Amino acid sequence: MAIDFFINLAYLLGAVGFVWGLRLLSSPDTARRGNIYAGVGMGLAIIAALVAPLEGANNNYGWIIGGIAVGAIAGGISARRIQMTAMPQMVSIFNGLGGACAVVLAMVELVNMSNPTAGGIGIALLTLLIGGVAFTGSLLAFAKLQGLVWDSTITLPKHNIINMVLLVGTLVVGVMLYLQGADMSLGLLLTFMGLTLVYGFSFVAPIGGADMPVVISLLNSFTGLSAAAAGLIYGNQLMLVGGILVGASGTILTVLMCEAMNRSLLNVLIGGFGGGGGSAAKGTGDQVAKEVTVNDAAIQLYYSQSVMIVPGYGLAVAQAQKVCKEVDDLLEANGVDVKYAIHPVAGRMPGHMNVLLAEADVPYPKLLDLDDANDAIPNTDIVVIVGANDVVNPSALDDPGSPIYGMPVLNVWEAKHVIVLKRSMSPGYAGIQNPLFFHDKNRMLFGDAKDSLSKVVSELKNL
Ligand code: NDP
Repeated sequence: MAIDFFINLAYLLGAVGFVWGLRLLSSPDTARRGNIYAGVGMGLAIIAALVAPLEGANNNYGWIIGGIAVGAIAGGISARRIQMTAMPQMVSIFNGLGGACAVVLAMVELVNMSNPTAGGIGIALLTLLIGGVAFTGSLLAFAKLQGLVWDSTITLPKHNIINMVLLVGTLVVGVMLYLQGADMSLGLLLTFMGLTLVYGFSFVAPIGGADMPVVISLLNSFTGLSAAAAGLIYGNQLMLVGGILVGASGTILTVLMCEAMNRSLLNVLIGGFGGGGGSAAKGTGDQVAKEVTVNDAAIQLYYSQSVMIVPGYGLAVAQAQKVCKEVDDLLEANGVDVKYAIHPVAGRMPGHMNVLLAEADVPYPKLLDLDDANDAIPNTDIVVIVGANDVVNPSALDDPGSPIYGMPVLNVWEAKHVIVLKRSMSPGYAGIQNPLFFHDKNRMLFGDAKDSLSKVVSELKNL
């Protein structure tokens, strides 16, 4: 009896840790603490689950401790070694492993039938379905982000129809298994598992380019839901609470990402576009992108009144956030007002730029969201684009044939001057050329962003 009380108390405290941690994660100032609280909540959950009187579990302590040790060592090493630029891939693969856990739990349950009621079987099948899709979908998302696949959109002829047939087929087999109940055929169960895994791949395959943020957050919510369903299978309240929190936050993020892309979720899922198509052209037709020297760029910045920095994926690749802050400090010391414009899908994961700039101690109030930045840009002297491309592409507004048409972007060309820092004329993630580079107001400062900004720092110090 007493043990039950302590287990429930630990679950309750664990749930409080998750919720409180999530709340603190909403601001960079408190995010580190939030992570620790959520981690302590998870620790309590593990301890409570280990001491819970689960039938037969006493014999499995060796396996359980072994699994925890392998997971902790692998997780600890990869978290330490991972480059900031590879963080989105890591999030994707960890997400996929969550889905894989749900698949394994559901399979064990369906083979052993420890709860052969209609409700128990239905929940286990649902766990298998969502977990399977989240698992292989996240693996493919990982491969796309890592550049392991030849194109970010992989489309077979009539892919939408293939996906529809796969989905309907998977659901039909699921219903058949449900109707078979406790006597379900193992062959059919394995077919169902195989179908969920194939559907996960096929569902994510055609979604790529600029639509990736939506699919990543959607997969995140799937994993949360599958964990919640697994919590139901085992009657584990904390797993249910944790799963629901991940599922709900993933769903909210999906909605926000759809809004950021100005697309409906259905449109993203069945549209299957958003990448490929473009070329890494050095220029389109006779258009020539004009360059600026480091010295001129530094003088322009030094004598301006307002500067807006637009960070993008290239800032993460170059790890230029600290030197960017140095430029900011030098300009501010000369009375220049410096702000940062943060596009919601800049970088390769939601909040990517906020994380990088927080790491460089850029004060949060300096960060403007898309709408506020677009309001401020017409009164800005110089916009400095540090490794961003798709999020400042005017084709999103004026080229109905563009894969990113309709996506809200930062209207940087409305500022008095624009300077783009990148290494070449290569396109961004969506694989399309950017007419901004040929705009009258724009000048290119070619080179690695950290290198270029370091040179700007030296020039500013000499002025
Ligand atoms: P982009 O991917 O559009 O462009 C990044 C640019 O950075 C490239 O054109 C590249 O040009 C430049 N770059 C790369 N390395 C360096 C370097 N060392 N120094 C200077 N420049 C460099 O980035 P954005 O942030 O503008 O847009 C993000 C894109 O990623 C969007 O299409 C978004 O939909 C997609 N996406 C976003 C996710 C998210 O959750 N935020 C997830 C998955 C995809 P060059 O090679 O010439 O240097």
